Amino acid sequence: MTRILLLGGTTEASALARMLAEAGADAVFSYAGRTAKPVSQPLPTRVGGFGGIEGLEAYLRGEGIARVVDATHPFAAQMSINAVHACEAAGVKLCAFERPVWQPEEGDQWVHAGSIEDAAKALPDAPARVFLAIGKQNLALFAAKPQHHYLLRLVDEPQAPLPLPHTTVEIARGPFDAAGDTELMQRHGITHVVAKNAGGAGAAAKLTAARSLGLPVIMIGRPQVPARPVLGSVAEVMAWLSHPAA
Ligand code: NAP
Repeated sequence: MTRILLLGGTTEASALARMLAEAGADAVFSYAGRTAKPVSQPLPTRVGGFGGIEGLEAYLRGEGIARVVDATHPFAAQMSINAVHACEAAGVKLCAFERPVWQPEEGDQWVHAGSIEDAAKALPDAPARVFLAIGKQNLALFAAKPQHHYLLRLVDEPQAPLPLPHTTVEIARGPFDAAGDTELMQRHGITHVVAKNAGGAGAAAKLTAARSLGLPVIMIGRPQVPARPVLGSVAEVMAWLSHPAA
């Protein structure tokens, strides 16, 4: 295998890091640096942005990277866009790991929103108790609906005042399970759930809990990224990395 850059921030990126370390691969793991104590990785790890497309291109050239695996979260679209353009400019092969989107199941009451702004608009006007399961970014977009009480589940304690007047903050790191999420939503009297369609198992518990409690879910669709080779499992990514002609 040649030198690899693994763009992380997801459970699957961590699984890939373990497999690459076990295989003795020459790989670097990259975090954006959004959380105070990121999960430690069994690979050399760098933290922080590269400085846009040009910065990433320079990094790829400077570090002699031959392959990039974009295993960022499906809503980390800027990083994915940058990776497509920087890899093209530097002549580096890129593949993205992408989880299948969640699909509604029988009993689900999903309202589809095309963007986070649309999710805020889809909330009712009458005061509600909303489990706003979108992480810490973009909370300000919900300031347009200040009448609601928002339950936020965050990895770190907020360091700055929140842009919403009525909140409860739950500090927790996934994966979560349905029993725990059902109890959480009952305890907080939740009436609506707002979720990003991240896919994967670790964050699906809130959807199972909402289904069992008969709660509506405002499901935000994924942002667009340019076309790139996409693989759907960790095993496929490992096979791609070990295939010289891929
Ligand atoms: P984003 O909007 O796509 O990225 C913004 C900027 O952050 C990028 O342009 C890049 O800065 C830097 N960046 C992002 N991921 C990076 C990485 N893995 N290594 C180095 N720099 C990175 O991303 P985001 O939505 O802020 O997410 C940040 C990280 O959190 C991602 O790695 C993602 O996997 C993880 N995450 C995101 C979400 C979510 O809902 N968005 C959920 C769970 C985990 P430069 O332009 O300076 O290179």
